[in-house]
Amino acid sequence: MQYREDRYGNKLSVLGFGCMRFPRVNGKIDKEKTEKLLLRAYEGGINYYDTAYIYPGSEETLGEILEKNQIRERVNIATKLPHYLIRSRAGLDKYFAEHLRRLRTGYIDYYLMHMLNDIAAWEKLKNLGIEDWLAEKKASGQIRQIGFSYHGNSDMFCKIIDAYDWDFCQIQYNYMDEHTQAGRTGLDYAHSKGIPVVIMEPLRGGKLVSKLPKDAVQTFRSHTAHHSPAQWAFLWLWDQEEVTVVLSGMNSMDMLNENIRTARHGEAGVLAPEDKKMLEEVASIINSKMKVGCTGCRYCMPCPQGVDIPGTFSAYNRCYSEGKGAGRHEYMMTTALRKDSTAASQCIECGKCEQHCPQHIQIRQELKNARKVLETPIYQAAKTGIRMLHIYG
Ligand code: SF4
Ligand code: SF4
Repeated sequence: MQYREDRYGNKLSVLGFGCMRFPRVNGKIDKEKTEKLLLRAYEGGINYYDTAYIYPGSEETLGEILEKNQIRERVNIATKLPHYLIRSRAGLDKYFAEHLRRLRTGYIDYYLMHMLNDIAAWEKLKNLGIEDWLAEKKASGQIRQIGFSYHGNSDMFCKIIDAYDWDFCQIQYNYMDEHTQAGRTGLDYAHSKGIPVVIMEPLRGGKLVSKLPKDAVQTFRSHTAHHSPAQWAFLWLWDQEEVTVVLSGMNSMDMLNENIRTARHGEAGVLAPEDKKMLEEVASIINSKMKVGCTGCRYCMPCPQGVDIPGTFSAYNRCYSEGKGAGRHEYMMTTALRKDSTAASQCIECGKCEQHCPQHIQIRQELKNARKVLETPIYQAAKTGIRMLHIYG
């Protein structure tokens, strides 16, 4: 494992464990499997574990496993305040007490304002007295470092960076998002101010691994150096000295072991110029096939009408990366072959989902576009047939 320093010289593993989606069975977190993964991560040298108040069951499970194995003091916990739910200073105390209770700890190592995408949200928090509150928590040792996670554009990112004396920040960044969101501009700006940057979505929700266009896969295969697509995506990030920790939501032992192996090579400057050129080619191939830049994060869900928004966009994009047959098949499988349809045509354009999309996707319009391609007469007939035959209840 390679390590990089935070603002105060503490060593952080270049690979961090993203705890948003622990493995589940029958809808519940599989604690046995999660414990094995977390212990393997710990043994493999990972010392940064990222969760959030709003990740279902995540803080409780992480806290329970760290306490049970007596390793809480040896790792760093990063968690996030759902500031958008807070209306008063008492609210800050309430949520913070709940973090500590769930995580079974007396302090948080890295505390983030979750999805602080707008300076107006920070101003609102300032009016509630958050700066004094954070200063008190830091002085008492209950919070060690203060940061924010971010999904907006680079201009706003720089404004937020300038608005407070942040210890660190967290952005979405990968070889497909070099020039979207905070992007390289934001990364460089934070670095120029001595603020370490934690990276989320290094694989764009897995899409830089499992849903690559065939010619992108071929480009990887024909390159002189051989790595898996996931390894290339991580190496692209670690190659940059401005990157501190890269988070990955690892819910299988194979994935975890591969990432730990890759992280042994996670030094700045690890890529040769021809490797970077090859990755630029891959990015332009993927861009040429992508219709909607959905990462599958599911922040837009649940839709009150039951629309499977990320599922629709995944199938829609697949139509252009792997062919219409493959995309329509996926759409049929995910939206029609089930008891309750989750088709895009159920959208009533309420707009609720768009407020939560960190990629700022015009979901209503894109769902309409997707419907035209995906909801063919054959799809409609099959869906009606399934209902009439009560195949799925
Ligand atoms: S706009 Fe459509 S997809 Fe979005 S929440 Fe409303 S009904 Fe659901
Ligand atoms: S539409 Fe936006 S919020 Fe929904 S899954 Fe895609 S990227 Fe995430």
